[in-house]
Amino acid sequence: MAFAPIGVFGLITPVVAEHGPSALLPLLKVIITVYLSCFLHAAIVYSGAVYFSAKMSPVTFFKGAAPAMMVAFTTSSSSGTLPITMRCAEENLGVPKSISSFVLPLGATINMDGTALYQGVCALFVAQIYGIDLTFVQQLTIVLTATLASIGTAGVPGAGLIMLTMVLQSVGLPLEGMVLVGGIDRILDMARTCINVTGDMAGTILVSATEGELQLPAKKSIST
Ligand code: ASP
Repeated sequence: MAFAPIGVFGLITPVVAEHGPSALLPLLKVIITVYLSCFLHAAIVYSGAVYFSAKMSPVTFFKGAAPAMMVAFTTSSSSGTLPITMRCAEENLGVPKSISSFVLPLGATINMDGTALYQGVCALFVAQIYGIDLTFVQQLTIVLTATLASIGTAGVPGAGLIMLTMVLQSVGLPLEGMVLVGGIDRILDMARTCINVTGDMAGTILVSATEGELQLPAKKSIST
């Protein structure tokens, strides 16, 4: 991974030299799409999940989850953020330790909505760049393999990019397409990790609420 930026630079330079800097413009669209989708996913799915399962206001949820979200955003690692995610869930959101200590480590490994979302966007981007029309079945295959690939992705920086190869391969898209998004991977990784971690906390609240174990209101609040 340490040498990846040098490799990406070497692969992108001939593309820019040949087609000009405008070749990088579609990448800006990828960044905007990933960030906007992450925002909508959190605002609709996670807010809905905590509200309907635990009657918790989305504002309370995001306020309590904010320290872990910020650490996830800056470290790009769900696993690295795990201790602070557990503290936020227990001390800010009222999740009992018995539930958070099981659900959150599991979530940090297999629950990666942000990664699946990012892989879907990147697969469509690669198809568009290479002028490949995807059939409806191919699009469904992308949804399925991106979900499976995200489950297999490790909670460390850049892991989702490697698993993207699996998604591209599943529908016969050129693997070289991965290099194009490799150059902006860190920017995308920050957003998707933040969503992954937020999803873990929303999932933990859902489990606690269905078990009747959620202790609201939270007693004390931690910050970064
Ligand atoms: N960095 C992400 C995480 O730790 C995984 C990924 O690369 O998608 O959650």
